[in-house]
Amino acid sequence: MRFGGVVAIHNVDFEMARGQVHCLIGPNGAGKSTFFKMITGQLRPTAGIVTFADRTISGFRPFEIARLGIGIKTQVPKLFDELDVRENLWLAARRRKKGAAANRLVDSLLDELQLAPLADKLVGRLAHGQRQWVEIGGVLAGEPSLVLLDEPAAGMSDAEVDRTAQLIGSIKKDRSVLVVEHDMRFIRMIADHVTVFHQGQTFTDGTAQAVLSDPRVRDIYLGKSFRHDA
Ligand code: ADP
Ligand code: MG
Repeated sequence: MRFGGVVAIHNVDFEMARGQVHCLIGPNGAGKSTFFKMITGQLRPTAGIVTFADRTISGFRPFEIARLGIGIKTQVPKLFDELDVRENLWLAARRRKKGAAANRLVDSLLDELQLAPLADKLVGRLAHGQRQWVEIGGVLAGEPSLVLLDEPAAGMSDAEVDRTAQLIGSIKKDRSVLVVEHDMRFIRMIADHVTVFHQGQTFTDGTAQAVLSDPRVRDIYLGKSFRHDA
């Protein structure tokens, strides 16, 4: 992905398996958000292709990609503060389902996210973590088979991080999850697989255990640079 003279993503060959939680990490400017945008259709790659379930989707528009089953929770909130949790989820569910089917979907999401006790609470009154869970619920309302989460644990307390990790464990039971995160404790809890981006390229890739114990990964976070051909 090239922006004029800036090459934001270069020669990335990335693959993820169905039913896994795959974490994408890397220092600021590594290209993580750009990569997400190419998957969701906000950006069209200037070279190369994106495939999803054996279908080439690069060049498709965001609503077409969403319809094929890719949902994203960005860092920009999309909730209505003056509506309650159930109403927020219902608005999201209504994009795909009508009448009783939308209500059933909302009930199952409240259940899955363990948000039923908060169903009648105004979203504007919720704690930060609770809002994030409602946001995730809104994404799941689109019934995606691949869920992209951009820094879902940012700003959370340790207890909220734990609950979010548990939630992701339940989400992946019948969906795949790709997560951009910085919180290493959280990554250790959720990741089946970790890919590290650095300067627009794949720096390393492997199990969470292997990648997070690699001293070079800590070094790139600390700003030491590596040559990709080294
Ligand atoms: P990350 O999310 O890993 O912090 P980004 O994907 O936001 O990184 O950015 C990767 C690189 O691409 C950075 O050098 C950034 O400045 C550049 N970049 C991202 N979007 C644009 C854009 N729309 N125009 C120009 N450069 C961009
Ligand atoms: Mg980013």
